[in-house]
Amino acid sequence: MSRTDRDFYLRDEPERAWMIENTWCAECCLPDLGIDDPREFELEGRVYLEGQCRICRRTLTSEVVDQRESTPAA
Ligand SMILES: [Zn+2]
Repeated sequence: MSRTDRDFYLRDEPERAWMIENTWCAECCLPDLGIDDPREFELEGRVYLEGQCRICRRTLTSEVVDQRESTPAA
């Protein structure tokens, strides 16, 4: 299962901003703290966004649910 890097910066600026802000940090136990250094990648057919919590600097990984491709995985 290899991880494939994707270019987060191909997304529209508003979408990027939304994705960066809409996070959940398990360390801080708080939503919407935001992440720095966002990196997007694909793993086993799913897309994830990884970045560092702006407060505790923990690396967070969250699955990106793309409304345009809302078909469930077979
Ligand atoms: Zn945090």
